[in-house]
Amino acid sequence: MADDPFENMLAQMDRAEEYADVDHGVFERLKHPERTLKVTLPVELESGDVEVFEGYRCQFDSARGPFKGGVRFHPSVTQGEVEALAGWMTWKTALVDLPYGGAKGGVICEPKELTDRDLERLTRRYTEGIRRMIGPDTDVPAPDMNTDPQTMAWMMDTYSMYEGHSVPRVVTGKPLEIGGTPGRVEATGRGVSLVTERLFEYLDRDLSDAAVAIQGFGNVGSNAARLLDEAGANVVATSDVSGAAYDPDGLDVAALGAHVDAGGLVSEYVAGDLKGSADRSRWDDPDAITNAELLTLDVDVLIPAAVEGVITADNVDDLRASAIVEAANGPTTVAADEALTERDVQVVPDILANAGGVIVSYLEWVQNAQEFSWPLETVNAELERRIGDAFDKTVEQYDTKELPDLRTAAYTLALERTAKAHEYRGLFP
Ligand code: NAD
Repeated sequence: MADDPFENMLAQMDRAEEYADVDHGVFERLKHPERTLKVTLPVELESGDVEVFEGYRCQFDSARGPFKGGVRFHPSVTQGEVEALAGWMTWKTALVDLPYGGAKGGVICEPKELTDRDLERLTRRYTEGIRRMIGPDTDVPAPDMNTDPQTMAWMMDTYSMYEGHSVPRVVTGKPLEIGGTPGRVEATGRGVSLVTERLFEYLDRDLSDAAVAIQGFGNVGSNAARLLDEAGANVVATSDVSGAAYDPDGLDVAALGAHVDAGGLVSEYVAGDLKGSADRSRWDDPDAITNAELLTLDVDVLIPAAVEGVITADNVDDLRASAIVEAANGPTTVAADEALTERDVQVVPDILANAGGVIVSYLEWVQNAQEFSWPLETVNAELERRIGDAFDKTVEQYDTKELPDLRTAAYTLALERTAKAHEYRGLFP
């Protein structure tokens, strides 16, 4: 069964192998991460208790350049999940043609149960644990689930303290004041929105008033919702861990965004318990539904933007969306993927759909190297050019090679590029 994320990633590679122009020996090598470090992280909490956490950093492949990949804080982190995510980063950076390899990090913890000071200590201890692996030219972390610009600032500071001088280039997704780039926070959601617009153009369908359901209203989901709303789509449902909100006439995305930014939950929004400056004047009275129900809504586009493994053999037959844009990493199991391909449901794969984040991370890293900062318009234009180009090349590969689905097209491109880099570099020693 391929519900394990690493098995799922390997199965996705296997599905693409028969169409990819890759030597079998190199292909086998691409199935193994270069290395994974496991670190034990004892932290004295603000309560006075000492808790021992566990963390990982996996460096999957560096043939195309320094390792690149986010750090996730989540109770369900496992070594296998981190390795799968590192593999997906490798195919993602190759697909969007960035001079990077792929990596990922994770710490098993429940951030909601930790104070800010606890999180700072844990982040610093984790950074110390992996600091011999990371570096501005070797491995560059970034935010992922439950980590943000503040986390990156602590990582950058801890690394810099050991080096004896500031090293902003060691992480991306930093606050603007210490070398971050404008546009990074919303980059992944912007990329999801741009790719959805491209998909509709490609399918010759009108995005205006198309019904969109988005699972997850965090960094990626909320920005994708806002930008798709601005692009004219009708965001009819979204969710968080507390549950989902559904209104067939469309949600007030701005009001929900203000409520969530003020610390509110989607379930509270549905109940009318609005937080912060959320404006009640456009109150749209949505229904409370479950996350499982959100996935099976009759919509034009379903955007999973929360966790992996949510579209499975168990629910795929109930899905009614005619297109899926994978904002989360690994939301679809291989068994579900095969069923969607058979039903001609277009799925824009994660390694393309959510690549906006790593593209803008790269632009931040480039600006840090130049010791020069670009305006937001330049960053957004470069993001649009790069993700649009990757979309066009994926679709061209899909059409010209008559491949079964867009994921296979994206994987063949990514695997061929990574394999080529291995062939040119050769096998050491
Ligand atoms: P986040 O922590 O900001 O938001 C996650 C959202 O998902 C929250 O609304 C949370 O309540 C919800 N959620 C968590 N568990 C859930 C569950 N079991 N069921 C339903 N909803 C659940 O995280 P994010 O940065 O928005 O990342 C979301 C996804 O996008 C992840 O798969 C991540 O790997 C991927 N991604 C993120 C970035 C980035 O730049 N942040 C880049 C590429 C890919």
